[in-house]
Amino acid sequence: MENMIELEDCPVCRGNGIISHEGGWNVQVECAMCGSHTVYVEYENEEEKKTAEQKVARLWNLGKVIKASAGE
Ligand SMILES: [Zn+2]
Repeated sequence: MENMIELEDCPVCRGNGIISHEGGWNVQVECAMCGSHTVYVEYENEEEKKTAEQKVARLWNLGKVIKASAGE
């Protein structure tokens, strides 16, 4: 059984967080509303990919995000 990844609402604006992969080797959680995001976590294979997704999801759920600075 795979662990489902649950994402809380955005800690900044309460928008929806989405898991975003870039380049096929790193992943972050990004807010669809305000663009705040976690750090990227790199991975090299399918197993590390799952771990990386869970790691960024945990950071997101803890509110450890980088606020989008646009418009401030
Ligand atoms: Zn947001």
